[in-house]
Amino acid sequence: MFYGPVLSRRFGYSLGIDLVPFKVCIYDCIYCQLGRTTNKTIERKKYMDIDFEDFETELIKRIKDCPYLDYITFSGSGEPTLNSDISKLVDIIKKNSDIPVLVLTSGGNLWFDGVIDDIKGADLIKVSLDAPDNQLLKKINRPCGEVNFDKNISGLKKLLNDFSGDIWLEIMILEGINDDLDSAYMFKHIIEDLGEGIKKIHLNTSVRPSGESYIRLPKPERLKEIKDILGSKAKIIRKVSYKKYNRELVKIEKEIIELLKRRPVGMRDIASSLGLNLNEVIKIIDKLLGEGEIKYSINENMKYYFKPKE
Ligand code: SF4
Repeated sequence: MFYGPVLSRRFGYSLGIDLVPFKVCIYDCIYCQLGRTTNKTIERKKYMDIDFEDFETELIKRIKDCPYLDYITFSGSGEPTLNSDISKLVDIIKKNSDIPVLVLTSGGNLWFDGVIDDIKGADLIKVSLDAPDNQLLKKINRPCGEVNFDKNISGLKKLLNDFSGDIWLEIMILEGINDDLDSAYMFKHIIEDLGEGIKKIHLNTSVRPSGESYIRLPKPERLKEIKDILGSKAKIIRKVSYKKYNRELVKIEKEIIELLKRRPVGMRDIASSLGLNLNEVIKIIDKLLGEGEIKYSINENMKYYFKPKE
């Protein structure tokens, strides 16, 4: 359930908590770095048998081991708010630590009974809003049948009303899909309508190996135009700075390189071979690809990573 800490582009060092099995999600986003959703659902339930005393003990140990944590983050192998135990876990973290609690959510069930109540003990909630209308929501996020754009906006408005912490929005900008200026003006009107409660808007790009092969990065000039249209709260998310890379991450990186020297391996197999969470592996693979240390080939729609011979 715990993983990391991972070094993230926006949140620094973050201790991850994964509350759903791979890959339980309300969405099946075309850019998802985890691959296709295998259990697309809006059903909220326990999903895992969590012993709360064990959770607390492990949490205290992890915090002691990582004195440099910037956030404790609910994220992972799908949509964390689907786990109906999330509010108890937020309470346990708040009882034991002052480290800010972050929930990363697709925003696809904020309109659903009880979801906001269960996460309102967090300090920061980052909600994805990749589509400015229902047609693009279906195209980009491929949601469950129960979800639609209007429900999501009503959920966001309820969050703004009921939650006293910070709310950030994230828009994944995809070339040829939602990077046109009409979409940018639609986003602008939606965000203006949501009001002052939205503190930041992150414009993200799919820098990691993503689900569908047709995903393309937007041109930098277009990203800048969209940012200018959205105004001063909008920020383009740059690559992570690895200056803060710590010894533990260097060790994991070496283990991954050693594994990939032997044979090409898929992302999930890297994670299971080394006993890591997929999210830890994704961040390190992203770094190694960016540095040209490793490469990948595609076989039957699966990416296999390898270390080229020197
Ligand atoms: S909401 Fe997140 S985990 Fe779910 S499919 Fe989209 S990107 Fe993947």
